[in-house]
Amino acid sequence: MKRLSNTDPEIFEAIRNETRRQSSTLEMIASENFVSEAVLEAQGSVMTNKYAEGYPGKRYYGGCEFVDVAESLAIARAKTLFGVDHANVQPHSGTQANTAVFIAALKPGDTILGMNLSHGGHLSHGHPLNISGRLYKVAAYGVNRDTERVEEDELMALAKEQRPKLIIAGWSAYPRVLDFSAFRRAADEVGAVLMTDMAHFAGLVAAGIHPSPVPYSEFVTTTTHKTLRGPRGGMTMCRQQYAKELDVALFPGIQGGPLMHVIAAKAVAFKEALEPDFKKYQDQIVKNCRTLADELVGHGFRLVTGGTDVHLLLVDLRTKKLTGKAAQIALERAGITTNKNTIPFDPEKPMITSGIRIGTPALTTRGMREEQMRSIAKWMAEVLNDPENETTASSVRNKVEGMCREFPLYADRLK
Ligand SMILES: *Cc1c(COP(=O)(O)O)cnc(C)c1O
Repeated sequence: MKRLSNTDPEIFEAIRNETRRQSSTLEMIASENFVSEAVLEAQGSVMTNKYAEGYPGKRYYGGCEFVDVAESLAIARAKTLFGVDHANVQPHSGTQANTAVFIAALKPGDTILGMNLSHGGHLSHGHPLNISGRLYKVAAYGVNRDTERVEEDELMALAKEQRPKLIIAGWSAYPRVLDFSAFRRAADEVGAVLMTDMAHFAGLVAAGIHPSPVPYSEFVTTTTHKTLRGPRGGMTMCRQQYAKELDVALFPGIQGGPLMHVIAAKAVAFKEALEPDFKKYQDQIVKNCRTLADELVGHGFRLVTGGTDVHLLLVDLRTKKLTGKAAQIALERAGITTNKNTIPFDPEKPMITSGIRIGTPALTTRGMREEQMRSIAKWMAEVLNDPENETTASSVRNKVEGMCREFPLYADRLK
């Protein structure tokens, strides 16, 4: 067998360097995680070779008996995991998972009501350059200036004013639990369907430590690669009455052949998520995040909403006279990877921002716990209190590398 190291040493080297980077830095981007060797093996399999347009048992190509096994298992496990009527595991990404719902439930020109991007919403919920903002009229709800939370009376007033056909619950940067029953009441009030995009918190829902949007929503979408800890991809779920429309909207509506190797890896990840250890893992993510939040507050940082209920938190850096961009760069120099993020009513532009978003899913996968979070919060404070100081950055970087060695990641791949 010809190995990658011989046929393409440049790509081999880039992958090796990326493996080393992941293992030797603190990955605190809230949307990232580290999949198991089993997920990597399924995703790197010969199923990538197979065309399988259609759905299990109803394909446009021959030779689908084994990819059918993989997709059927992925579907069955997803249904068990989330207690849904119907699951489509083919979306290539979270954005595709959402677009399929729009195509299934809306006509061009209809109004959608989603969360303001600068208050924690997602591009695929109505950004003018995304298909959601090009095909549909977009109205946006935000958080309340004082509570920094979504408030039911404001949501209801906006729904009555805008009369959307579809309301979207879900976020990419909101440190609290949404009240799905409030979204249901708003949707019912105006005759809209409710789509919940749980891309970020699906793992918490699967583990039963976060309320499930399933009983409240006609459609539920997710990514599979964030807290759910599967391969990069998406999934759309719905009530039985929308199943046929959804499947047609996804294929042939917006996608061609499914990525069968990724679907096999989704099945593997869902099996992992059904095991008791996954609940412990998700519990620890939230405990770690709470610890990090308390410690950062103790070091004088202001957090949006004052804390967190989930796997991420948002730091408001204005009290430190620092921008999100500068903070991201300073932390990265010290081996801590985060992302700049707008905070509600941010005075800075999206490429600068006044905040950073910090998450604990990836570090928790490595086995880190409260003790490590306390050290990390202290190091963050050291760096951010003196962001230009090279000596501080390199001394923190050394400590970060030491901690990373204590919690090895993909060690067999670096031999
Ligand atoms: C991450 C995310 C998505 C998009 O996922 P991609 O796979 O990057 O397309 C969609 N919705 C929300 C709320 C997200 O956080």
